Amino acid sequence: MSGVQIAADNLTKSYGQLEVLKGISLGARKGEVVTLIGSSGSGKSTLLRCLNLLETPTSGRLFLEGQPIEFRTTNGMVVESSTVRRYRASLGMVFQSFNLWRHMTALENVAAPLIHVLNVPRGEAADRAETALARVGLGDRAGHYPSQLSGGQQQRAAIARAIAIEPKVLLFDEPTSALDPELVAEVLSVIKSLAETGATMVLVTHEMRFARDVSDQVAFLNAGKIEEIGPPEQIFDAPKSERCAKFVSTVAH
Ligand code: ADP
Ligand code: MG
Repeated sequence: MSGVQIAADNLTKSYGQLEVLKGISLGARKGEVVTLIGSSGSGKSTLLRCLNLLETPTSGRLFLEGQPIEFRTTNGMVVESSTVRRYRASLGMVFQSFNLWRHMTALENVAAPLIHVLNVPRGEAADRAETALARVGLGDRAGHYPSQLSGGQQQRAAIARAIAIEPKVLLFDEPTSALDPELVAEVLSVIKSLAETGATMVLVTHEMRFARDVSDQVAFLNAGKIEEIGPPEQIFDAPKSERCAKFVSTVAH
């Protein structure tokens, strides 16, 4: 597992009788971009939510920098809240719907997790937040409230919030799906620049051209399983699985 920043081993997740993830094994090495594609309902969001412990997996193992996450098994798996806090402080998550605080400026939104989760002193948190906002091209919008920003700018602020904590891994769940088409490119370009500067990422997207461009590995999920995983050239140009071939040919147009 050396060099692997985040990994899942035979991960399952059930809601009652419904088994949503059926034994997922996946890893992202330092600096790698792993992209999850697949139809709606195939389990992509659930996998990301398990990776950052927003959901507790039903069985299987998770590793951060090769270290297993400690699960207590009583009636199903349980993770201690101190473990969750420590673990989640190492991960940056970006959702489809930005999730910015409406009553805080962009700067305050980005600084908040630094202050409240990582106990960074306020002055230093503000400096780090400014740096993060500059990296996503929002250096001149720090004092703006979300309502004063476009959707693309709001999502870039959310990305700044995720990178400000200097996470070991960035997780993105359809970061451009809620955006007007003309705002998609600016957000993808920020994500690409982070990938190029060595960020480790697990990304869910329906932007197939972007996935091909930015990914080291692409995993095609079908009904809670990884049906096929490989470099983008394999998945998009020469998939081995018929289902994967059908999916990529449908979404490519
Ligand atoms: P995707 O992100 O690929 O569209 P999801 O991970 O959101 O897929 O969902 C996978 C399946 O899990 C769906 O059938 C969905 O209805 C089900 N599911 C997701 N979250 C829950 C939940 N909290 N309770 C019950 N079922 C859920
Ligand atoms: Mg989803």
